[in-house]
Formats: sequence, C-alpha cells, structure tokens
Amino acid sequence: MPATADPTHDLVILGGGSGGYACALRAAELGLTVALVEKAKLGGTCLHQGCIPTKALLHAAEVADNAREGATFGVRSSVDSIDMAGVLSYKDGVVGRLYKGLQGLIASRAIDYVEGEGRLSAPHTVTVGDRALVGRHVVLATGSAAKSLPGLEIGGRIVTSEQALQLDTLPGSVIVLGGGVIGVEFASVYRSFGAQVTIVEALPRLVAAEDEAVSKALERAFRKRKITALTGARFASASQDDSSVTVTLESGKTLTADLLLVAVGRGPVASGLGYEEAGVAMDRGFVLTDERCRTNVDDVYAVGDIVPGLQLAHRGFAQGIFVAEDIAGLSPRPIDDLGIPRVTYCDPEIASIGLTEAQARETFGEVTAYEYNLGGNGKSQILQTQGFVKLVRQVDGPVVGIHMIGARMGEQVGEAQLIYNWEAFPDDVASLIHAHPTQNEALGEAFLALAGKPLHAHA
Ligand SMILES: Cc1cc2nc3c(=O)[nH]c(=O)nc-3n(C[C@H](O)[C@H](O)[C@H](O)COP(=O)(O)OP(=O)(O)OC[C@H]3O[C@@H](n4cnc5c(N)ncnc54)[C@H](O)[C@@H]3O)c2cc1C
Repeated sequence: MPATADPTHDLVILGGGSGGYACALRAAELGLTVALVEKAKLGGTCLHQGCIPTKALLHAAEVADNAREGATFGVRSSVDSIDMAGVLSYKDGVVGRLYKGLQGLIASRAIDYVEGEGRLSAPHTVTVGDRALVGRHVVLATGSAAKSLPGLEIGGRIVTSEQALQLDTLPGSVIVLGGGVIGVEFASVYRSFGAQVTIVEALPRLVAAEDEAVSKALERAFRKRKITALTGARFASASQDDSSVTVTLESGKTLTADLLLVAVGRGPVASGLGYEEAGVAMDRGFVLTDERCRTNVDDVYAVGDIVPGLQLAHRGFAQGIFVAEDIAGLSPRPIDDLGIPRVTYCDPEIASIGLTEAQARETFGEVTAYEYNLGGNGKSQILQTQGFVKLVRQVDGPVVGIHMIGARMGEQVGEAQLIYNWEAFPDDVASLIHAHPTQNEALGEAFLALAGKPLHAHA
C-alpha cells in the first residue's frame, strides 16, 4: 500500500531503545533519511532500566564478595558496609556516560530525533503531538514493561526491577517473586550486599529456560550462598504495612521480608498505540512478524521485545540492523533466535546458546551430551569457582547446544556462539588452540573430550 501522504522520511521508527536506535543508526549509515521517535530516554530499557544498570549493581556485588572472601586468597579484607548512595552514583555514572555517547552518535548521523509520545495513526504515519511523520517504511520498536500478577499491586515495599534500581536503602531481607533471569540476578546482588533472600518460583526449577543441569548447578550454588529458592511454589497474595511485606503462597505458607521484588516477566508495550487500528496482526499483545521482521501490513516492520521471542538487547540490535539493511536492499540473512547468545549475570554466571539437551532430544531423537567440569580448569581453580561446560551434539553431527555455568562464564559465550552458528563439529574446534590458563580453555577441553581425545578430563 503506498503512503497516503508524501513521505517525510524513508524510515520512521517508533521507540528509541535497543531495537529502534540500532535500526536508526544503520539506516542513516546506509544513506536513508530517518526519524526516531522516543517518549522517554534514548537507549530505552537496556541502557536506563535493564542491562547496564543491573550489571553495574552486579559488579558492585562482586567487589563486595571479593572483599568478604579475601582471606580465601590470603588477603585479609572485610566489608564495612554497603553505601547504597555510592553504589547508585557509580551505576548512574556508567549509565550517564553511555547515554551521552549514544546521544552524540544519533546527532552525528543526522537522524531526525523527535521527542514525544508517538502513535501509529495510519500504516505509514506516526503522529507525535501535531507533527505527522510519514515514512516509506515504519518500524515499531516500543519495547516491553515489567508485568505483575493479578491482584498484586506495585507500590511501597512491592517493587519491580525498575524501582529496585533506584532504592537508596538496602533491605535486610527480600522476597524475589520469579526465578527467571531478572529474578536470579537481583537475588544474587541482594545476597552479596548482605540481605536474606528467598526466591519464589512457580516452575519446578530456577532459570527454567536453561538446560536442566544448569538449573541444578545454580540451585546448588545459591544454596551454598544461603539464598533460599522455593521452586514449584505458587504465589497467592501479598500485603504490606509500614515495616514489612508478607507473601502468602497457595500452599498456605507465609513469608515476611522488608521488600518484595516482582520479577515475573515483561509484557509488550504495544496496546493503545494505534497498531490494531492500522491492521497490524497481534497475539496476546505482541506484534507478529515473519522471519524478515515484517508485520502483515505492507512496509510496517517490528523489532525487539514487542516481537515474541527472546527479550534481549542484542536481539533488538540485530533485528534493527537487519530491517535497515533489508529496506536498503542488502538482502541480509534472517536471524535465527537459537543462534542468539544468552547470559544470566548472577553469581555463578550462566551462558548458553542453541538447544538444551531436552530440546535437542525432542528435535533429533538421540544426541550426545558431554559435561566438562571446571574442576579440571586451572583458571577456574585460581578463581575458586565451580561449574561446567556442557556440549550437546547431534549424533555424528554438529554441536547444537552449549551450556556453561561458573564465575565469569558469560565471557565465553562469544566463542560458543561462533561454534554454534558455524555448525561446527567437535573435531573442528578440538584442533583450535585455547590459551592456558584461561577459563576459555574449559571450552577447548570439552571439545577435545567430545572429539575423543580428552586432555585434563576423564573421557
Ligand atoms: C532488569 C533488566 C535487566 C536486563 N538485562 C539484560 C541483559 O543483561 N542483557 C540483555 O541483552 N538484555 C537485558 N534486558 C532486556 C533488554 O533491556 C531488552 O531486551 C531491550 O531493552 C529491548 O529493546 P527494545 O528496543 O525492544 O525495547 P526498549 O529498550 O524497551 O525500548 C523501547 C523504547 O520505546 C519507547 N516508547 C514506547 N512507547 C512509545 C511511544 N508511544 N512513543 C515514543 N516512544 C515510545 C520507550 O520509552 C523505550 O525507550 C534486561 C531487561 C531488564 C528489565
């Protein structure tokens, strides 16, 4: 369908988070004229309320753990106290510098940055106040927001990750509702800062999207850290007063703490924005697309968290870049969600790509799985961390899943994603040399073992 009015831009993007701004930057690089509409802060959830601030908190938590555990390494040290104002100021400094850099990037590419709340008022038109931006193409990138449960109102001592990132006092005890990625990351931070932490998860295991062996290892590690995880536990209700919050489970059990962090997932920000009226097909609030990020409406694309699938910043970046290149006629290759690396930055860290062992068995029938224990890895011993690298391969075929847990294992996901996306065979990787002593060697050792020539491992 042609635009009803003369286009003002080649591309109008609604939402300036990871998906939207990546699309804007790449499109401008390719010579397209771009309008980018943002109602809050350029950078979206990832920069202001997600990836960056949470990882800053996790780093402060690691510093606290290192100080507390200094004696293990013969370094006498202790934690006096956690100065939350200082932690917040460090976190805000990191965010602020990146925000400034991003604003500079957008300005330098001559992108028409439009501040304000936008609405898809026609298939090719985004209206912001009294300004109508008409695109030859429109990209919907309005992201996601924290969900709650029916009857569970956010306020006071009941917070989501958004409010938790601004709290300037440290709770003595926290109930974390939800044992997914966001829940276990915050549980890890609060525990490192000295709080008593209880996770309530309705599913049978923590980080249920990960391989079962990883969930078990995380639960074991959290037990050692004295984080209580109640799995298979269903929330019934919560109440609060001036001094505490009480959660009642369906089993009748009650839990009391200073703070309740609700981390039960994120839902799309896609209603009331004119999408349905413009004829965009949606499902449970998400915008549906094909593998080329196209909605069912001609020239209207969608990227990032509003599209069903992994809610990750780098998926948003990749989809945004893909759409810009597609519109510019570069015919990029569609993105395979399974080929997107996943990291959970709690302590111990979790990193994975591809299929879990159970998913691989469902897809291929018989598979081979191998677990290399970090006990045999020199650098992991130096760091005093435990965990493993688990490989899943098709019988006589390529590796279809890599799952890792242990301190700093997120840093290994770069090689893991190359292996997965290149559909490497164990022999291909086993012939590559991994530096000693690094944790990266654990990945190399796992492949040596899977190729039938284990070095620091039993076959
Ligand atoms: C606590 C937390 C930790 C996370 N940690 C990680 C991590 O470590 N790694 C990772 O990869 N991902 C992480 N994520 C997920 C990541 O933040 C998201 O996947 C990513 O931000 C999605 O990008 P997006 O562009 O789809 O949406 P968003 O980043 O949500 O951006 C959407 C933008 O659209 C704007 N907008 C919405 N409606 C309108 C409108 N009507 N008009 C104008 N503008 C509008 C919003 O203001 C927002 O800026 C985390 C998320 C959270 C909450």
